[in-house]
Amino acid sequence: MSSIFSKIIAREIPADIVYEDDLVLAFHDIAPSAPVHILIIPKREIATANDVEPDDEAALGRMISVGAQIAAEQGIAADGYRLIINCNEHGGQEVFHLHMHLVGGRSLGPMLTRPKKRRST
Ligand code: 5GP
Repeated sequence: MSSIFSKIIAREIPADIVYEDDLVLAFHDIAPSAPVHILIIPKREIATANDVEPDDEAALGRMISVGAQIAAEQGIAADGYRLIINCNEHGGQEVFHLHMHLVGGRSLGPMLTRPKKRRST
């Protein structure tokens, strides 16, 4: 089933698009979690990382190279940034069109919250 991101690809709903080519589209996240928060998506409708097929490898590679290019354009490449793909419920995926978050512009801290160590008595 098509998601809201397919509507962005089709220009049926607006988005602040920063990059487009034959394989991928990149646009600003509507609810940014950091000073830079851009979503990079394959144009093919791939629901989750579980649904990637061998023919998608060109688009997935392009997503990373475009992510690095946009990071440079946004001036965050040297300080660093994070590229994230969430999958399904435990991964926190909310939109079921595969997407990669490019987040940066501040120190992002540890990737995951570590469980608190139990104090030994
Ligand atoms: P997920 O949790 O699925 O990895 O991330 C989905 C992301 O899509 C969220 O960061 C959310 O803010 C963003 N998002 C959801 N709907 C829209 C929309 O209509 N436009 C844009 N630009 N971003 C959206």
